[in-house]
Amino acid sequence: MTTLSLTVEVAPKQARTYFTVPFQVPEGVATLTLRYRYERRPAVLTPTSGGVFTARPEVNVIDLGLIAPDGSQVGASGSDKTEITVSATRATPGYRPTPIVAGEWRILVGAYKVAPEGVTIKYEIVFTVKQRRLFLGDLHTHTLASDGVHTAHELAIKARRHGLDFVAITDHNQTIARAALPQVDGVTLIPGIEWTHYAGHANFLGSERPYDGVFATQALSDVQARFASARERGALIVVNHPLDESCPFTFDLATLSFDALEVWNGPMREANLRAVGLWQQWLSAGRRVPIVGGSDYHRDTPFIFLGGPTTGVYADSEGEADILAAVRAGRSFLTFAPNGPTVALSAGDAGLGEVAPWPRVKTLRIVAGGLASGDVVRVVTAVGATALFTAPEAGDVALDYLVEAPGFARIEILRVFIPGVPPLPALLSNPIYFEATSNENHPGAAEP
Ligand SMILES: [Zn+2]
Ligand SMILES: [Zn+2]
Repeated sequence: MTTLSLTVEVAPKQARTYFTVPFQVPEGVATLTLRYRYERRPAVLTPTSGGVFTARPEVNVIDLGLIAPDGSQVGASGSDKTEITVSATRATPGYRPTPIVAGEWRILVGAYKVAPEGVTIKYEIVFTVKQRRLFLGDLHTHTLASDGVHTAHELAIKARRHGLDFVAITDHNQTIARAALPQVDGVTLIPGIEWTHYAGHANFLGSERPYDGVFATQALSDVQARFASARERGALIVVNHPLDESCPFTFDLATLSFDALEVWNGPMREANLRAVGLWQQWLSAGRRVPIVGGSDYHRDTPFIFLGGPTTGVYADSEGEADILAAVRAGRSFLTFAPNGPTVALSAGDAGLGEVAPWPRVKTLRIVAGGLASGDVVRVVTAVGATALFTAPEAGDVALDYLVEAPGFARIEILRVFIPGVPPLPALLSNPIYFEATSNENHPGAAEP
């Protein structure tokens, strides 16, 4: 937490004018709190018979507003509020949630009333810094705007009750504008669209308008144009349920650019396991594509629920941009439910989705939480899967695994959900990549 203090002197001739006071926001700020004080109603004491009367005439009135580096008005609150707070996901009423980007912000000063001797305003700006931690969410949901049964607000409330921090709203072929999404404390709603075609579905996340015109396309070139437009407008592009029985993704993936593969759509089943197999082939061939999960929630059914599966991301804040950056980087794992197991991986300085220099770094450190009795933790590399640990009872485990060849290493936690039925993944992690460095050929140069 850092604090900036600013003192502003206002002269009587500035009364009934507006001006701005600039201040610098550093990198990595999560929330900004701005408070100010000045002598609004000084005490004027008058002796009266048997006592003292204290008059409090209003001699100064200073209004407040906040302007972002791009010149947009974050909010304005007249002279009513003397403290406001803004972050990417929340803001004091009268202000809009805004990412606290680095750069020159400005306080809007409205000198509505100024005493003949002028007034001194003391501003205090408090920054809280971003801190990377685990956030849980669902990246694939439908509302009443397509064929779901809940409003976005109802989904957000439900998400919060189930312990989710973010939900992407991905209705078929239509978006809900960011400004139209409800503000629900504790839940980040991410605007998105499930571009839905008879020949394949893809989620475009974090863009209100990923392409112009209609969704419907005939030629592959039109599909490519939708993807290219979404990419240009900053959307995170996910190829959905690629091997689904009823709506597989049949466009040629080699001709489309995308950011992630949804290998886990709704309940774990054959189509998802085959998608994991496809992804494993890509990884083994040296292709680095992060995976995501999404419940494809429309309404409750015996097997479909919000957060089934949940994507756990290690993000710098709960803001949309930070969540999506973590998804894009593969700093994430998929777990069967909001209360499913969790995992953190590291190898030297590298974390999930990152690259470790092999053989200088050969140890994969695994910390798995929320295991149930009988859960099997296994590591998967290009060579195959190796079981590392079977939980004797509910608990957490920390393990080290020696990575014997460059490539990738990822974690699966298998669980028997129904006695007598073979185990299914309760968790799938993205990999850490082990990249052969020149040290490999010059062992003498390797650090210990
Ligand atoms: Zn779909
Ligand atoms: Zn869907």
